[in-house]
Amino acid sequence: MKIKVMLLGPPASGKGTLAEYLSKKLEVPHFSSGQILRDEAAKSTPLGKKAAIYLKSGKLLPDDLMLSVMQPYVEQEHYILDGFPRTLPQGKTLEKIHFDLILLLDVPPKVVIERVTGRRTCALGEHVYHLKNNPPKREGICDVDGSKLIKREEDTVAVAKARLKVYAKLTLPLISYYQQRGVLRRVNGNQPLYKVFEDAYKLISSRS
Ligand code: AMP
Repeated sequence: MKIKVMLLGPPASGKGTLAEYLSKKLEVPHFSSGQILRDEAAKSTPLGKKAAIYLKSGKLLPDDLMLSVMQPYVEQEHYILDGFPRTLPQGKTLEKIHFDLILLLDVPPKVVIERVTGRRTCALGEHVYHLKNNPPKREGICDVDGSKLIKREEDTVAVAKARLKVYAKLTLPLISYYQQRGVLRRVNGNQPLYKVFEDAYKLISSRS
């Protein structure tokens, strides 16, 4: 499907998992700013070395740096965009791009903390699991690519709390901005995964 979707939501709201599902279902690429930065950090590139400091603390990279990292991706024709934009200045630079859907995954802060502690991510790519809510078929192994599942270094309660503060301060103004313009759609992210997928897909199918 020829479509551009932007996903917003607090940390561990399930943006990555939903993006992965939509990317397969709609046959469009999934661009995750967090994953792009983690890949750079794993390769120890100059950008990756800088990003690693922010990734560990849960703070956001400077807007101008993020814009230059994401520019080649957002210019593409179709995609599911996850994690970018995340601040009002980042969002304003995308004003000329028409998104078919801007979707907020709503998850209360308490649930974010619970989820972060159980989250496991595959070592090779971006496939995300939860020990209780979305376990892999074989313990410790990614269903999709067979790589080992790891716990991200930043997936601790302390970092999750710091990230929620950053979210409230920098991302909520972006969300209000889209809301005021009437372009934001919400999906309850605190329900079984199949229902989250179903609700998101319904919004996509019924978009005007
Ligand atoms: P995520 O995987 O989307 O939760 O992102 C992980 C981390 O990458 C964040 O806590 C930030 O340090 C950094 N990051 C990802 N996207 C952005 C962005 N749009 N602006 C600034 N920093 C970002």
